[in-house]
Amino acid sequence: MPELPEVETVRQGLAELLPKHVVTGVNSVYDKSFPNAPVDVQKFLIGARVSAVRRRAKVLMIDLDTAYTLLIHLKMTGQLVYRADNGERFGAGHPNHSLVGELPDNSTRVDLQLDGAQLFFNDQRRFGWVRLLPTSEIPNIDFFKKVGPEPLAADFTPADFRARLQRRPNTTIKAAILDQTVIAGIGNIYADEGLWGAKIHPATRVKDVSVAKLNNLYRELREVLELSIAKGGSSDRNYVDAKGKRGSYLTFAKVFRREGQACPRCGHEIIKTRVAGRGTHLCPHCQKEPTS
Ligand SMILES: [Zn+2]
Repeated sequence: MPELPEVETVRQGLAELLPKHVVTGVNSVYDKSFPNAPVDVQKFLIGARVSAVRRRAKVLMIDLDTAYTLLIHLKMTGQLVYRADNGERFGAGHPNHSLVGELPDNSTRVDLQLDGAQLFFNDQRRFGWVRLLPTSEIPNIDFFKKVGPEPLAADFTPADFRARLQRRPNTTIKAAILDQTVIAGIGNIYADEGLWGAKIHPATRVKDVSVAKLNNLYRELREVLELSIAKGGSSDRNYVDAKGKRGSYLTFAKVFRREGQACPRCGHEIIKTRVAGRGTHLCPHCQKEPTS
């Protein structure tokens, strides 16, 4: 599933390409992918100029000069591919052949026509979606009202992080950081990597993690997210081999899917277990199991 760094990679690429383009048409081959009323589409999408591309948690927002915004959630298998008439191409999201292949293909759900380019929303499993909404209404939709702060926001401090976690004292630390209402966009990979970096066993209850370790976790999570964005944030618009992308996605990992290998810090064997209902990778030497 595309996680926060992959969605941010999509945003960075599209933010360079989409603004100033005018939407000239839209095709949706699957109603659930883009269930908007045709009247709104005609009035607020067709003829609109793209003004900005933003992200909140794992939701992309393409702002239009009609004061409407296209919201896009990639979910399990979504990806966006931009293709200009001059051959320039950028694609990111779920890494499969559609990123580089002929489009539209059988995974294309929405095809947005622009002046001089096209934007394809491809989604093999069809859990993703595109919605057209008034920009001013976005903060009021359920998802945005509930979702926690952005972990990389400049104004998100270690004290905010601790305070949000400490409201769930009896939850395991892994479950707490995966909870999107506590903090936005931390997926399984980043949870395991951050907890390893901070030397915290994922099954430790929040109340049993020291302030110093919570501060370390804050720093480790931000570092691993930034590193991953830097790796995925290739400036090469002409792209991006789908398989190479999948490779680079995990090359930075110290514990995730490294069970049986040596911990890069202490040399003990990394194990895979289950915490918070999720496959969990840890070093049993660096990350001591809670005693209580
Ligand atoms: Zn270790």
